[in-house]
Amino acid sequence: MNARLFRFVSFSILFLSSSFNLLAQSQAKYIMVIHGGAGTILKSQMTAERELAYKTKLTEALQTGYAALKSGKSSLDAVEAAVRIMEDSPLFNAGKGAVFTHDGTIELDAAIMDGVTLRAGSIAGVTTIKNPITAARAVMEKSEHVMMVGRGAEKFAAETGSEIVDPSYFKTQARWEALQRALKEDSIQAVQKKKSGSALLGTINKDFKFGTVGAVALDQQGRLAAATSTGGMTNKKYGRVGDAPLIGVGTYANEQVGVSCTGWGEYFIRNVVAHDLAALMAYKGLTVKAAGDEIIYKKVPNLGGDGGLIALDKEGNVTMPFNTEGMYRGTLTSDGKIEVYIYKD
Ligand code: ASP
Repeated sequence: MNARLFRFVSFSILFLSSSFNLLAQSQAKYIMVIHGGAGTILKSQMTAERELAYKTKLTEALQTGYAALKSGKSSLDAVEAAVRIMEDSPLFNAGKGAVFTHDGTIELDAAIMDGVTLRAGSIAGVTTIKNPITAARAVMEKSEHVMMVGRGAEKFAAETGSEIVDPSYFKTQARWEALQRALKEDSIQAVQKKKSGSALLGTINKDFKFGTVGAVALDQQGRLAAATSTGGMTNKKYGRVGDAPLIGVGTYANEQVGVSCTGWGEYFIRNVVAHDLAALMAYKGLTVKAAGDEIIYKKVPNLGGDGGLIALDKEGNVTMPFNTEGMYRGTLTSDGKIEVYIYKD
């Protein structure tokens, strides 16, 4: 080969390979997004060690989701697997490490939804199911119902093969101490209420360390699924159920978008957040980002609530807005790239 031809061939190879690289990069869309709760401990109080622990667990959850998606499994499999990793970790307010109710018990809520078929399953107020997300999926796939609560849900979960544990399995010292602080605050508020003549019972203490977990994934066949699991809010009372297990509120997926929410549940319920996001996209033509921003920066705070959400649309666009100090969260692209974050920057 003469020198000119050699130069031409090497230039062409270089050109082609960089074009392929560019193509590969531009094709790397988001295929999964997860959260580990909005609120978080204040940045000023976060230690490097703690930060690393959270980021490592978020990464593990995304890696697990990636392994499922890459091997051709469904988005439902991916979200369930990722959520189970976080449920098993005491770091998050879901499964082990969930927050305590006013009465010192732990009551878990979870939901899962398949965007293609609009099938959904959810459970609320359960105390013995090790992985509530798996039980929620069983409700979806092995019953003719969408939602089951309390003892009935536990019975059904046991019958369909979910692992059952003693309620003490979920307890952690940190969450117990958080309840003690909340109870103290409660009694102060009770005195204030009595003085002011307020008739409201059961103040709910806004916990700045939420920690609900959730995931949304898009599989190789373009199917979306969403899942959320939580212990609710510290010091919740009287069988309180939050937004997470309510389909269309804390969890929703259709063919266009999947959503999982975290935050002060009462305000998410009143704003019907997850379905509202899908509706803003479908009826108003908003992008997933514009729809998420509208809800998290306007609708929820306008009522007095706070929190965040994750959403992934069918084109692989992702958004993760939150109006709290931070939100544990992470993304995965189709080339396997994982990014995890806690605060705004
Ligand atoms: N949204 C959950 C609830 O209100 C709590 C959270 O996300 O931290 O039950």
